[in-house]
Amino acid sequence: MEKKGSAAPPILHASNLVKHFPVKRGYFQKKSYVKAVSDFSLQIAEGETYGLVGESGCGKSTTGRMILRLLEPTSGSVFYKGKDLTRFSEEELRHVRKEMQIIFQDPYSALNPRRQIGKAIQEPLSMYSIGEQKQHRKIVLELLHKVGLQPEHYDRYPHEFSGGQRQRIVMARALAVNPAFIVCDEPVSALDVSIQSQILNLLEQLQEDFQLTYLFIAHDLSVVRHISDRVGVMYLGHLVEEAPTDSLFSQPAHPYTQALLSSVPVPNPKNKKERIVLSGEVPSPLNLPTGCVFHPRCRQATAACKEVVPVLRELAPNHRVACHLV
Ligand code: SF4
Repeated sequence: MEKKGSAAPPILHASNLVKHFPVKRGYFQKKSYVKAVSDFSLQIAEGETYGLVGESGCGKSTTGRMILRLLEPTSGSVFYKGKDLTRFSEEELRHVRKEMQIIFQDPYSALNPRRQIGKAIQEPLSMYSIGEQKQHRKIVLELLHKVGLQPEHYDRYPHEFSGGQRQRIVMARALAVNPAFIVCDEPVSALDVSIQSQILNLLEQLQEDFQLTYLFIAHDLSVVRHISDRVGVMYLGHLVEEAPTDSLFSQPAHPYTQALLSSVPVPNPKNKKERIVLSGEVPSPLNLPTGCVFHPRCRQATAACKEVVPVLRELAPNHRVACHLV
């Protein structure tokens, strides 16, 4: 599938997003903050798939939820079609949420076990008064067909489906409101590898059919490579590198990206690169390292890395890196 660049106007622009969760610690219940996301910015063009990748706990899901305002940012803005969502009232948000949907990792928890799946898909149609009531069953049957399910599935319950089929149901429900932008939060992580590719292909097909834009969150680099036009790499709440998919995988510039990519198995052993093993644990977001947050684990760290925070700089067109050495 042809990869799209970022030449189209952005449908979404997140600017300097920060999320700190307050926690109380120790005998005196001293207040401190989990710094989940720090000064995060990105733009996603219409029709693009932006892959956001990083280890578990790096802040990528928190970012996805802030972008949809399912979580309030501590600071920063989210512009959707040029309008700042962080200034929207509840009523305005309710309207815009029709266009901005989310698909979660665990489709079972997203479905009511006591509700037939046809009714579950129909729910948002009634909620947003889409189409005439008597047309709803027909719309749902069309959506089931679009995601590769059968008309007889309409009256069945979630437990009667496999994990892959449940993810298809959740996708049909998200599509019912005719969205433009979908956050896919680890949508295939819980599925067998054989099913993963079917769901990824379906996501690509639906993107074409419904002109969708995706923010695709995952920890699996192969999955992100398969589906994304551009990729952003997160480490400890910071965006450390961002590039078109081909550039990122062929010329990773940030030491953390290089380490992540070196652990991906390659089909041809002749192309095998040296595996970079990161030393030490990921530091606690309660107590972020000074300077570059990656410096305690970076083989190339210098004295300056411990003091000075690196900013994202353009290395090549659309390729940005936050590292003093680049
Ligand atoms: Fe490593 Fe320094 Fe670059 Fe951070 S800024 S990734 S510590 S070389």
